[in-house]
Amino acid sequence: MANNQKFSFFEAVLRNFDKAAKFTNWDPGILEQIKLCNSVYRMYFPVKIGDKIEVIEAYRVQHSHHKTPCKGGIRFSTTVNLDEVMALAALMTYKCAVVNVPFGGAKGGINIDSKKYTPYELEKITRRYTHELIKKNFIGPGTDVPAPDYGTGEREMSWILDTYTSMKPGEIDALACVTGKPISQGGVHGRREATGLGVFYGLKEICSMPDLMQKIGLPVGIEGKRVVVQGLGNVGYHVAKFCREGGATVTAIAEYEGAIFNADGLNEEEVREHRKKTGTILNFPGATNITNTAEALELDCDILIPAALESVINGENAPRVKAKIVGEAANGPLTPEADEVFLKKGILVVPDIYLNAGGVTVSYFEWLKNLSHVRYGRMEKRFKENQNRSILSQIEQLTGKTVNEKAKELIMHGPNESDLVYSGLEETMIGSAKEIVDAWQENPDIPDMRTAAYVVAINKVGTSYAELGIFP
Ligand code: NAD
Repeated sequence: MANNQKFSFFEAVLRNFDKAAKFTNWDPGILEQIKLCNSVYRMYFPVKIGDKIEVIEAYRVQHSHHKTPCKGGIRFSTTVNLDEVMALAALMTYKCAVVNVPFGGAKGGINIDSKKYTPYELEKITRRYTHELIKKNFIGPGTDVPAPDYGTGEREMSWILDTYTSMKPGEIDALACVTGKPISQGGVHGRREATGLGVFYGLKEICSMPDLMQKIGLPVGIEGKRVVVQGLGNVGYHVAKFCREGGATVTAIAEYEGAIFNADGLNEEEVREHRKKTGTILNFPGATNITNTAEALELDCDILIPAALESVINGENAPRVKAKIVGEAANGPLTPEADEVFLKKGILVVPDIYLNAGGVTVSYFEWLKNLSHVRYGRMEKRFKENQNRSILSQIEQLTGKTVNEKAKELIMHGPNESDLVYSGLEETMIGSAKEIVDAWQENPDIPDMRTAAYVVAINKVGTSYAELGIFP
C-alpha cells in the first residue's frame, strides 16, 4: 500500500459498499453476509526452477456463494497478496450482479513476476496451482471457474484446462472449468477482446447520454473524444483499438517504462509492433516521449482510461488529473481519496464493476457454449441466410428493383459466433448502463455513478439471498 493511501484495496471496496448500502433497505445481517469473503484459500507449494526449489505463494478467494459457480480471473503479479485477491473477488460479485451474469465472485492470484520465468517454468507453476485447486474443490464447471486477468491469457487457461481434464477423465462438462481458452480448446470467438470491447461499448453508451454530457461540458457521442490509455496489455490494447475505430482519438498510451503522446492520434497496433521490436514504447515515430509514465494520467484529455493495475490514481495525483471522464478499465484504479477529489472537481467516473464487465459477460457466453457442446450460430446461421435470401428475392420481384450487392450481402448474412457474442455484449453493456443511471436518477442523494452501481449490485445479491430463504 502506498504511503499516501489510507485504505487497503479490500478496505476501499468495503468503503464503497458501505457508502452504497445506506441507500438500500436490507437487514444489516444480509449486508454483512454480502460484504465478506465466503471462502479463502491461501497456499504455498514447491516448484523446481532450474536446480533450486522455489516456494510459491498463491490464492483463490470465493467472495460469494449466493450463485454458483463462482467466477473470476487469475492474476500473475508480484502485487498479489490476500488483501488484493479478496478485493478483486468482491468486485467480481458486484460486477456479475451489475451485468446480470448468474455467478458469485471469485479471484485467484500467484505472487510471481512472470517475466522471470521461462514458458516451461510458468507451465509447471500453473499446473501445480491448478492441482492445488482441484484437491480442495476450488475449481470445476459448477463450483468455481477461473479466467484470465493481469499477467495471464489463453495459454495459461489451456494449461489449467489440460490439468483439470487429465485429473477428471470422462467429466462431460470439463471444458467449462475455465474460460478465456483458445478457440481450439473450447474458447469462444470474441473473448480475447471482450473486456476492451465492453469498455468501449460502455463509454459509447455513457457518452450518448445528453444529461450526463451536459453536466461535464462535453458534446454527445464518443466520436472526436481525446482518449488517454494506461497499460497496453489485453484490456488496454483493445480499448485503444475500439475507441480509435469508433471515431475517438487516442492521444497517449502509457506503459510501465514510459508514455507517448501525439495530438493527432496513435495507432495501438503500430505502437505494439514498435514495442515488440525495440523493447520499449518510447521513441515511437511522430510521438513525444513522456519518460515519467505516471504523468500520462495528468494529460489534458476527454477520457482517461486506466487499464493496468489498482490504486494508480490516489489523493496525491488526483487533483492534477484534467480528464472530464475517467473510465475504469482496470479493477480498482482509483482510491477512495481520488473518488472524493473527482466528485468535487465534477469528473465523471465510470466504475470498474460496470465498465470492465465485458470479460466476465463473454466468459459467461463461453461457459454456456461449453455446457451446450455446440458453437453459437451453428444451428441457425444457414437457416437465417436462406430465409433472408427468399425475403429479398420476393421484395425484388414485387418492386421490380434490384438491391445492390453490398446491401444484399449485409441483409442475407446469417449470424456467426462473433456476431452473436458481440451483439450479446453490446446489449448487456447498454442495458446495465441504463439500470445504473436509472438508480442514480431515482435517488438524488446518491453522489456518483460508482455508488449507484453498487446500489444496483447490492439489491440484486440481497434479493438472491432473501429468495434463497436463508434470512426469513
Ligand atoms: P495484462 O497483463 O494483459 O496488461 C497489463 C499491462 O499494463 C501490461 O502491459 C503492463 O506492462 C502494463 N502496466 C503495468 N503497470 C503499469 C503502469 N504503472 N503504467 C503503465 N502500464 C503498466 O493485463 P489485463 O488483462 O489487460 O488487465 C489489466 C487490468 O484490467 C487489471 O486491473 C485487470 O484486473 C483488469 N481486467 C482484466 C480483464 C481481462 O479479461 N483480462 C477483465 C476485467 C478486468
